[in-house]
Parts: sequence; C-alpha cells; structure tokens
Amino acid sequence: MSRRKERPSFAPSAAVAVARAAEMLARVKGEARDVPGVYEMRAANGEIIYVGKSKKLRTRLLSYFRAVYPGDKGARILREAAELQWEYVPTEFASLLEELARIKRYRPRHNVVGKRDARHFAFIRVARGAAESFRVARGSGNDDNGTYFGPFHGAMQLEEALRELNDALGLRDCALDTPMHFADQADLFAVPRTPGCIRHEIGKCMGPCVAAVRRDDYAARFGLARAFLEGANDVPVAALKRAMDEASAKLEFERAAALRDKIGRLDSLRAQFARLRFAVESLTFVYTPVAVEGDAVSYVIRRGRVRATLPVPRTAEQRRAFDARATAIFAPVERTDGTVPAHEIDELLLVTSWFTRFPRELERTSGFAPASSSPHA
Ligand code: SF4
Repeated sequence: MSRRKERPSFAPSAAVAVARAAEMLARVKGEARDVPGVYEMRAANGEIIYVGKSKKLRTRLLSYFRAVYPGDKGARILREAAELQWEYVPTEFASLLEELARIKRYRPRHNVVGKRDARHFAFIRVARGAAESFRVARGSGNDDNGTYFGPFHGAMQLEEALRELNDALGLRDCALDTPMHFADQADLFAVPRTPGCIRHEIGKCMGPCVAAVRRDDYAARFGLARAFLEGANDVPVAALKRAMDEASAKLEFERAAALRDKIGRLDSLRAQFARLRFAVESLTFVYTPVAVEGDAVSYVIRRGRVRATLPVPRTAEQRRAFDARATAIFAPVERTDGTVPAHEIDELLLVTSWFTRFPRELERTSGFAPASSSPHA
C-alpha cells in the first residue's frame, strides 16, 4: 500500500504559473551556482512535490525553464511549483545521498525512489502470503518491511535463476492474488479442480493452489529455498538427499529420481547465484571524495551502506575521535545471511551503482586503519 499521503492538488492558473516561473527563473539566474546540490520544488500549499539533485545545480535548474513540451516532466513539475529551494553540498555523491534521504522523508509525488540506480541490479524479495514465494525486485518500492536478498547483477539473469530455483524446489511463482488451498485446510470444497497453471502437472510446483500439499510441507520447502539463498548450501541438498533415500527405501524410484535431479540442479544453481551476486562485502571502507563545494567529508561505508558521515579529521584529536567512530562501526561482527533490510535497499543500490559507474573513485577509499596509520591525517 502506498505510504504517500494524498493531498489536494493546488494547480495554479496558467497566468499564475507563468508569473511564478518567471520569478523562480530570475532567482536561479541571479543566485544559483554551478556546484553540486539538491533542490526542492514546493506547491503553494507547502507540499514538497519534487526533490532533485545535480553536480551542476545552476545548469540543472535552468534546464527546467527550457522544457519545450507541456507534457515534459520538468514542465509539469514547474507548472505546479510555487517555490524553489536549493542547498549546496560538497560532492555529487553527497547530492545523491541527500536526494535519496529527502525523497524517503517526504515521498514527493513526482519522484520515484531508486529508479535510476535499479538499472543494473536487482534483488529477490520474499513475498508473504498464504504460500510464500520469491519475486525479483529492482528496489524496495513501498515495502519497507520486506526481506530482500542481493543485490544481484542483471534482473533478467536473476529471473532465470530464480525460475530454476522455484522449479527445483516446487515453489509457486504465480500472481500474488492467486487463491491458495492446502491439503490440510478445513474447507476443501472450495478447492478448484485444476491448478492455475501447468507447473503442478509437470512436477515443477507442489500445487498449493489445488490442495496438493500440506501447509507445513510447503513452508518447509520454502524454508529450504531461503536457506539456499542465505548461503547455507548444504541444508537444502541434505534435506532433499534424505527425502531421496526415503523414497528409494520405499521403492518409490520415480520420486527418488526426481529428487536426484533436483539435487543436481541445485548444485549448478549455487554457482549461478554466486556469479550473479554482487559482493557487497567489498564495499567496506572509508571514502573521502574530493569536495567541490565547502568542506570535505568522509563516509564510513560498511557492506555498501553509509554508516556515518564525518568531517575529515584535521587534528590529532579529531583523528582519534574519527577512529573511535569508525572502530565502533567496523568492529562488531554482523549477520551475513545475504539479506538486506528493506529500508537500506535504495542506499545500497545507490552506493553499489556509484562505484560501478565510477570505479576510479575506489582510489579515494581506504581500509580502516586506526590511530597513527590513518590516511586522514
Ligand atoms: S501450480 Fe498453482 S500454485 Fe503452482 S505456480 Fe501454478 S498456479 Fe501457482
């Protein structure tokens, strides 16, 4: 469900919009500088309708006033805007972080969170419901409580690998609103005669839509898939091997053979997921981009998330304080089960995309070395 608050629209008349635009343009021409910054457009009722950023703020702001077609997004935003505010930041990286923070805080109606950074990376989201399933997601959207695995390179390859994982473990992948019926539920009259798709008939889905599986059994199989994505590779394989041995012992050779095939597919899928998974662990360092505007800051980044933004230390005392903060961030052992808290997804995408687009920025990072060997002397 969208968390964005619906507010009444205060669309101004054409004449008012033109007069306001002229005022804003005059201010931009007279005051804005071409350095990194973030900006907000507000409607007459005070609502922040758009947040943007640019490494060349003046150029970006002027571009709004050159929008030719009335349908252009920029022209539409400008028509609704009564006020334009901006703030300078030290670097383009800072502008991206600040823009994201403000979009999350205000949820402006003309912004889409994380869209820009989601082009090259994707996540696997656990979709809750009567029968849980996995979905490929390009960002957190509005699901701030979900469980996400990733990031992975390439949404299409990820879709393919996930389809195989679903097939191997017999999990559903149908539309989320497909009604589910378990074999142990009370009202078995309501169960449809035929499954919603062919996957159950060809042995690729346990069939929770036609009461072909008990709730617990489906949940256990889903748990195996989760364990697989969390990196506990032996757990699903061991469970399937046990089931295979039981089937053999009962002379259910067809079932045993099917389980053997699933084990083989999981083995190759393990390598496939490992290839696609982006190693967020590599994004653990102190990053100090060159400041274009104002004082430089250092970002303490752990596993692709900015854990602290600190002034670059200039004195021995500041450096000790800096080291103490960084130590407190880097030292604790963190759970690494491959999941990312939903509220960190967009920032992780931002940081990952930044260093993928600008790999030379990695030269401005340093592994954390406390006390005298710190590079921020
Ligand atoms: S067989 Fe049923 S539960 Fe499985 S994917 Fe198809 S519709 Fe969904």
